[in-house]
Amino acid sequence: TELLAKPIEKIRTQLEDLQKADASLLRVTELLATKPAIQDGPGTPLPEGPLSVRFQDMSFSYEEDGERTIKDLNLELKPGQTLGLLGRTGSGKSTLARLLLRFYDPQNGSIELAGVDIRKCRLHELRSKVALVTQNIEILEGTVRDNLTLFDDRILDTRITQVLDELGLNNWRESIPDGLDSVLSSGGGGLSAGEAQLLAFARVFLTNPGLVILDEASSRLDPLTESRIEAAITKLLQEKTCIIIAHRLTTVQRADQILILDKGISVENGSRDSLASNPESRFSRMLAIGMEDVLA
Ligand code: ADP
Repeated sequence: TELLAKPIEKIRTQLEDLQKADASLLRVTELLATKPAIQDGPGTPLPEGPLSVRFQDMSFSYEEDGERTIKDLNLELKPGQTLGLLGRTGSGKSTLARLLLRFYDPQNGSIELAGVDIRKCRLHELRSKVALVTQNIEILEGTVRDNLTLFDDRILDTRITQVLDELGLNNWRESIPDGLDSVLSSGGGGLSAGEAQLLAFARVFLTNPGLVILDEASSRLDPLTESRIEAAITKLLQEKTCIIIAHRLTTVQRADQILILDKGISVENGSRDSLASNPESRFSRMLAIGMEDVLA
């Protein structure tokens, strides 16, 4: 036994080393398997007012080494301009919106707001300066007031009431039992599609973001709600930098710039006027035959 003690001890320590190595290898593979989380930026501030937008050689895929959902996108939008974003289902329009809010980061290139790479901004600030308006207002746990002001208590009730009434939501406002103190249930319970979208507009007018991404309702709403939304969009286009995922020709007609995506590739980008007056452009063909047929 005396003779075997040394080799056995050696084997034991080697086994221990191996186990340690195995454990750390396991940790490394675990780390590799988890997607890199979005890191908060160092906090370069964004200016007040309408923001410019710039995509520079930007590519993105949902999976590392996967097929690229957005390919080499270059685009510049000046402060206050409106971009009409067109493309078939699955072409990458909502992905662009999610990238602007940093739910994901691009693998290549960059996205800038007012010349600031959005990875340099605090997430909180970025998401307060970029508003997403969809058919479904994202209901937060809180009162109607909290939901409309995003908890900014500097916004006065009189202002909230004024904005709701301007949007034609006065009947709705008067029907909720505790007024602005009413609690909105998550999931948007009790709100019609039209009311939900109008409330999302109310939030935008109250919180004053520097960029608005509007995913226009594709479903038909009643004529009164349609005309109210129409008026809200007109106001929005006058005041803000907007990116509109458009479903209606009337909205596209008012954009300064058009971007048509096809499988994540920019197949047409330019001023609306120049594209509309060029009979060879996809955009003018779209105008001629009707958007629904092209985007289906
Ligand atoms: P659009 O808004 O133009 O309809 P999307 O941006 O939703 O297009 O989708 C673009 C492509 O990315 C589609 O092929 C879609 O299947 C894919 N995609 C969308 N979301 C995800 C996701 N969370 N994970 C993986 N692939 C996705």
